[in-house]
Amino acid sequence: MKIFKVGDTQKAICSHCQSLQTATYQLRDVPFSDGSGIVKNVLVGVCNQCDQVALLPHQSTPAVRRELDTARKPVESRIPAHMLDILSLASYELGGSTDFIPTLMKYYIHRLAADQNAAGKITSLLGSDLAKGKADKRLSLKGRKISEEVELLKVRAHISNTTDLIKGVILKINDDILVKKRAQPTNALKSFVASIG
Ligand SMILES: [Zn+2]
Repeated sequence: MKIFKVGDTQKAICSHCQSLQTATYQLRDVPFSDGSGIVKNVLVGVCNQCDQVALLPHQSTPAVRRELDTARKPVESRIPAHMLDILSLASYELGGSTDFIPTLMKYYIHRLAADQNAAGKITSLLGSDLAKGKADKRLSLKGRKISEEVELLKVRAHISNTTDLIKGVILKINDDILVKKRAQPTNALKSFVASIG
């Protein structure tokens, strides 16, 4: 894969000019074709003739994808305050900060969605006293696959309500990391936290 720098040039078919033109690589804010958002400061080939974006180099696709991820519809739920405390405590236990909470949730949802046995245990956790409480905090999870995996986990766990499912996942995290301090996945998560700094 060739890496381009700002100022490099390349021949390209410009869709605006509808002809072969020279494009110069520059950092530009690029709107998505569906108008749902904008990718800021991404390296693109700009047509020297019409000043429109003519090329999106391979190296810029992760940036575009990252922006697309955040543009996806998040999974929203309202949970009792003590559940957010559980997530904060679990994150600290793993060596992370509250910034790690969304990643921790996504890790668990992904893992549970692939494990029928573990998924089935969520329901019993929802019967515990910790599952109760006024839902006055908001938890928002964004990501490319999160909605899909939440839907899959709902089927696996036989839970139809998103908020109940999210609560169940939090109680599973509580059980694994804070109560039983299970070596797995605690150790895997600790090394993950350490690796992302
Ligand atoms: Zn052009």
